[in-house]
Amino acid sequence: MPSLRRRLLAWYRAHRRDLPWRRTRDPYAIWVSEIMLQQTRVDTVVPYYERFLTAFPTVRALADASSDEVMRAWAGLGYYRRARMMHEGARQLRDQAGGAVPTTRDELRAVRGIGPYTAGAIASIAFGEAVGLVDGNVARVLSRLFAIDLDMKASGARVAAEIADALVAPRAPGDFNQALMELGATVCTPRGPACHACPVADVCRARTERRVDALPRVAPRAAPRGLAMRALVATSAEAVVLGRRRATLRFGGMWEPPCIEGEGEAPWPTWLTIARDVALVRHVLTHRRLEVTVDASHGRASALERACVALATSLGDTYDAVCAVRTDALDSVGLSTLAKKVLAAARPPA
Ligand code: SF4
Repeated sequence: MPSLRRRLLAWYRAHRRDLPWRRTRDPYAIWVSEIMLQQTRVDTVVPYYERFLTAFPTVRALADASSDEVMRAWAGLGYYRRARMMHEGARQLRDQAGGAVPTTRDELRAVRGIGPYTAGAIASIAFGEAVGLVDGNVARVLSRLFAIDLDMKASGARVAAEIADALVAPRAPGDFNQALMELGATVCTPRGPACHACPVADVCRARTERRVDALPRVAPRAAPRGLAMRALVATSAEAVVLGRRRATLRFGGMWEPPCIEGEGEAPWPTWLTIARDVALVRHVLTHRRLEVTVDASHGRASALERACVALATSLGDTYDAVCAVRTDALDSVGLSTLAKKVLAAARPPA
């Protein structure tokens, strides 16, 4: 074990990628990076991370920001619940602890939006607490190193968490955890791991037992289910109607052209002249395959204003605000990638 730790640490210090969140011990910055990195590639995260920290440099700054400001900074990164939960967590810390981030994994787990993995990352990297962590990369590395022959989405995850806690280097837990993550991200990859470049290949059970490709064991995920939707892109010369989705819904807090789910009659205002079925937009999420039929309407600003009032009532379960947003100010609201696709699809070709 000591040799495995030593070798992993030495390998990490020689090979780690220079990433912005690795140049800081600020627990808030590490928190932001870990939340953004969930389900998202490093290259995608870097510019978002830098912009987000410029906009909200402290827990207090994030806590004091409006939900619209936070969602705007997150727009395009996906998995918007992460942003909402982190915003709530920042408000909790501002109200309960003057904005201070807790220093132990157990205390961190009590903060809204901080799960076991993020708590372990902040505690070990920012505060040097000797606790392990398991993300997808670490789960893969540990499942192969120790030949964990269990479903990594079920009992295998618990076993991996126990191993991670037992394995962590007491004097450099942050670097050690990042070494495991980095090994999983760059060497022990899902397909075709570069075992010849692995610093612990000689003690890897999966390699010795020739089972590298069989591990980790993960039950196949159900294919995303299809969901038919219909959206209305209603514009005037200067504005477009957008609704802000209620916080508890998918894409909660984000703005989009009014949308309904299912094949039923759309509640679009009768006084709008509407061109139906002008486009079909497809968008795939982890669990859903969305197919959005787009209707379009172009008319006077006054008709748009009335439409906002009507849609705010008829779609009140979905949107907590509906308004006409100037088309030259769309950057100032948080638009999901799907909303941008729908808007682009409704635009007549130039
Ligand atoms: S030897 Fe190969 S399978 Fe084993 S930990 Fe290293 S990269 Fe992963």
